[in-house]
Amino acid sequence: MVDPGIESGVSRKLATYRKAVLSDINYRLSFNIPSQKTTAIDAKEILSFSLRSLKYPLQLDFRETASKLKSVSVNGLKIAITHDQEHLIIASKYLKTGTNQVEIDFTAGEGALNRNADYLYTLFVPDRARTVFPCFDQPDLKANYTLSLSLPKDWKAMANGALQDSLVNGDRKILNYKTSDTISTYLFAFVAGNFSKVTGSVGPYATEFLFRETDTSKIKPSVTEVFKLHDDALKYLENWTGIPYPFQKFGFVAIPDFQFGGMEHVGNIQYKSSALFLDGGATKDQFNSRSNVISHETAHMWFGDMVTMNWFTDVWMKEVFANFMADKSTEALTGKDMFDLKFLVDHFTLAYGVDRTAGANPIRQELDNLKDAGTMYGNIIYHKAPIMMRQLERLMGKEKFQEGVREYLNKFRNSNASWPDLIKILDEYTPEELQKWNKVWVNEPGRPIITYKLETSNNKISKLSISQKPEYGKSRVWPQLFEIGLIYPGSSKEISVNLNNASVDVPQAVGLDVPSFVLFNSSGQGYGVWPTDQAMLKQIRLIDKPLNRASAYISIYENMLIGRSIAPEDALQLFVNELSTEREELNVKLISNYIGTIYWEFLKPAARVKVSLMLEDAVWIALEKQSALNIKKLLFKTYQDIFSSKEARDKLYQIWSSSMAVAGVKLTEDDYTALAFSLALRDDKDATILNRQLERISNPDRRKRFEFIMPAVSSSLATRDAFFESLSLKVNREKEANVGAALYYLHHPLRQAGSLKYLPKSLELLSEIQTTGDIFFPQNWLQATLGNYQSKEAADIVRKFLNDNPNYNPKLKAKILQTADNLFKAEQLIGQ
Ligand SMILES: [Zn+2]
Repeated sequence: MVDPGIESGVSRKLATYRKAVLSDINYRLSFNIPSQKTTAIDAKEILSFSLRSLKYPLQLDFRETASKLKSVSVNGLKIAITHDQEHLIIASKYLKTGTNQVEIDFTAGEGALNRNADYLYTLFVPDRARTVFPCFDQPDLKANYTLSLSLPKDWKAMANGALQDSLVNGDRKILNYKTSDTISTYLFAFVAGNFSKVTGSVGPYATEFLFRETDTSKIKPSVTEVFKLHDDALKYLENWTGIPYPFQKFGFVAIPDFQFGGMEHVGNIQYKSSALFLDGGATKDQFNSRSNVISHETAHMWFGDMVTMNWFTDVWMKEVFANFMADKSTEALTGKDMFDLKFLVDHFTLAYGVDRTAGANPIRQELDNLKDAGTMYGNIIYHKAPIMMRQLERLMGKEKFQEGVREYLNKFRNSNASWPDLIKILDEYTPEELQKWNKVWVNEPGRPIITYKLETSNNKISKLSISQKPEYGKSRVWPQLFEIGLIYPGSSKEISVNLNNASVDVPQAVGLDVPSFVLFNSSGQGYGVWPTDQAMLKQIRLIDKPLNRASAYISIYENMLIGRSIAPEDALQLFVNELSTEREELNVKLISNYIGTIYWEFLKPAARVKVSLMLEDAVWIALEKQSALNIKKLLFKTYQDIFSSKEARDKLYQIWSSSMAVAGVKLTEDDYTALAFSLALRDDKDATILNRQLERISNPDRRKRFEFIMPAVSSSLATRDAFFESLSLKVNREKEANVGAALYYLHHPLRQAGSLKYLPKSLELLSEIQTTGDIFFPQNWLQATLGNYQSKEAADIVRKFLNDNPNYNPKLKAKILQTADNLFKAEQLIGQ
């Protein structure tokens, strides 16, 4: 056995050592939670485990000051407390081989308790359990938890296990929970506070749902639907995996301004409240996101919670399966066409957003210490990995793939496994060379750029060849299966292609009539930058399937970014022209996003002035022409995003101030809030807008959110300066979702003259944000900060920061390069 040494965080060495010597771990934990958020939480822990070796001292992880540890007893003997490098260290002389018991009285650390005035929730992924209580904080030391909470009498709570009994004593109560299933530390969780509770069922399980939403127009339609979506997802997963739901209970909580969309704690799933509670004004996209996040978290019960990665190197595996299974269960509900379209617009746009940059990371990344585990998360694991998995499934065939995954789940049930474990099993089910395939798709970043050659004679195709080369880096080949469409006026023909080499011929095309143009990647499963030549750009209306059009739109945008085929102004005009005729809501969403991005990031301010009236008019005309309510609403949002004229302002101001939307557009309170921010951002002459909007908001959590964002939207530069300054303190960054929203306004293109000066400090803060914030925060911080700049000055600040810090954490550097990519591309595409 290798000496694990003592260093901060949880090193791979320490984890390997502990995995070799520890088993049968049980935590009995009690927390005494006061009603006042500022009063400390007294806690007690009785930890038992079986130990195989006494060679090195035992380290418990506790990332807190030593003074929080009040007393420690080992096997009945009180010992002196040794706390070093974030570890409570127990000398071997106090331990024995076989069963041991450690008792600790302590004050709970608050780094991951998310305490609010009248509620709190734990969020321990990936290594934050150790900020609250001493533990073996690594995913492959699964344990049982027996939890007891002492709470103010009126509070409600939820834990991993079912409630065993409760006892009220004066204004306090004690809740004792049944021992949990065997789970990893990052999945241990509880929530407590002032919540409403409803009970329903998911599968055969009586299920509780806690929430703080107060708007009955959201609660009524949402609650039933939220139970039903969980129930559908559970049934789909049980059926697909062949394994019944593997835990003792089901339950979920909606948390205001939650850091993520959801988190898959066993028996106690947490969601962002606004993702679950939708009212009649919600768009298809919002409903899709809701069913997606519910299916995603439910899929985690098998993928991640039941079979868990050994180490966070493979955190992407649980995410890819959760997303992949969520997509599949959606397919079962919506049908194949909608599934294909959703898969394309959800995953490819976001995967390309990272993979096209100089900071692109592979799906599988190395990790030496869990303290850096948060940097593994991003759109590659959430969005490129499902694309890769779908290619893998297609390569193996659906049935073989499912059989292989079932074998993997059964083999590693209630324990841990790695990606090589799965690939080894899948390899048995296919003659294909998975190891080689794995190398380029999983272990390397990047995407190919595709070119083609079409030869014709007598108006027939005589030869069609397709080639790929990497966008960056050394020569390599992405073996992949995809479709091309030969588009003719009034008809089309689709051909499947296996591009398993640098260049392949397409014999099926030979002898066919020469098409008006070739639509590459028509079915949207191929990965790369696909050719969009002039014939296609001019005749895009010939493409009649929404899926095929989505693929064309994405290719056009990606080609624009690499400087091939089309310039930003022309791409903008092409997308604008489609707005009135595009009937598929998801496509309208896609192109209106592209319009917003090109307008703000890829047109110089002078060019923006030139097109702004055309754009306003075109969006408004499209809004009037389109008949579907959700499409109208998307177009209204686009209008609100890009408007600049006085007429547009008066129109929007009138709508906001009278709370009367245009015919056919239903606006919710959140929509009026966004509209108020949008008007204020343009220094509206009515300076009372924000205060009046605040008065209209009745839900206390939403009021807090609004009050937090207000100074970031203020017309006063001094107020905005003070707001930015306040973010230096962690306590002001606690509501990460709100910080992200505020930064978006703070750095909006209309405000950049004043906010450019925040960039150096924002970059300096990044490493502290990574250590103190939750997993998505570094990315969100950078995206909201750098995402909308286009000037050389801004690009120079980023370059200077990277030059001045040559030894910067490489994973954080990659995040900077990812989020500054549009900024650097704007420099190249439109000059300065
Ligand atoms: Zn997930």
